[in-house]
Amino acid sequence: MSIPKLIMFDLDGTLAESKQPITDAMAELLVELLAKTRVAVISGGALPQFLSQVVEQLPSEANLSNLYLLPTSGASLYEYSNGEWKKIYEERLTEKEAQHIEEVMRDAGTVLSLIDFSQPAYGERIEYRGAQVTLSALGQQAPIDEKMAWDPDRTKRVALHAHISKSLPTFSVKIGGKTSIDVTKQNIDKAYGIHKLCERIGVSESDTLYIGDELRSGGNDEAAYKTDAETRSVINPEDTMKFIRGLVS
Ligand SMILES: [Mg+2]
Repeated sequence: MSIPKLIMFDLDGTLAESKQPITDAMAELLVELLAKTRVAVISGGALPQFLSQVVEQLPSEANLSNLYLLPTSGASLYEYSNGEWKKIYEERLTEKEAQHIEEVMRDAGTVLSLIDFSQPAYGERIEYRGAQVTLSALGQQAPIDEKMAWDPDRTKRVALHAHISKSLPTFSVKIGGKTSIDVTKQNIDKAYGIHKLCERIGVSESDTLYIGDELRSGGNDEAAYKTDAETRSVINPEDTMKFIRGLVS
């Protein structure tokens, strides 16, 4: 397989373990890719998470001008120029919209008896990220093992998603990570981010490869199928590295 003109990666579960920095081995492989083609990372997290999990782990020789960051599920896009990350667009929610979304999230967690907001959490349970509001059932900083154990069969997230979607018909509601629900403006999803980035850099979607660990139905990478991008399903970061090694060798 020749190297695609643009390779887009999901972050958690694909490039890194949930909320963890990428490994040194992954960083080395990304440097090799960045020397040959354009690379993007798209995920539900906010920009600071992208910087700490990915960018700050890359060695100084990394060609950052080939790297694109799409935080909040593609609701925003950043590119590197003149030594800094420059925002190209951000589909921001207003404070008023964010407040309404937060109320709906609190109501859903309480009515479904899935989240007791009177109990302490690992950091904030509801976070306003500019373009996105995220509900994390156990809090943003919950340990991975507790997150994995909270909803192994997705039933809690599916119930939260259904309840919140019904109350917010004019927004886009998505299952995010292992304990989270993301809300953005309508029609914002990873497909939107793929469309916008391809248009921005003049690469056709059919020359783009999307790599993610949740391409299955209902997964947070599924929107990639709405585009003309090629897709590659991986099971974890180790699997992603194996695939990249094949591409660059
Ligand atoms: Mg993932």
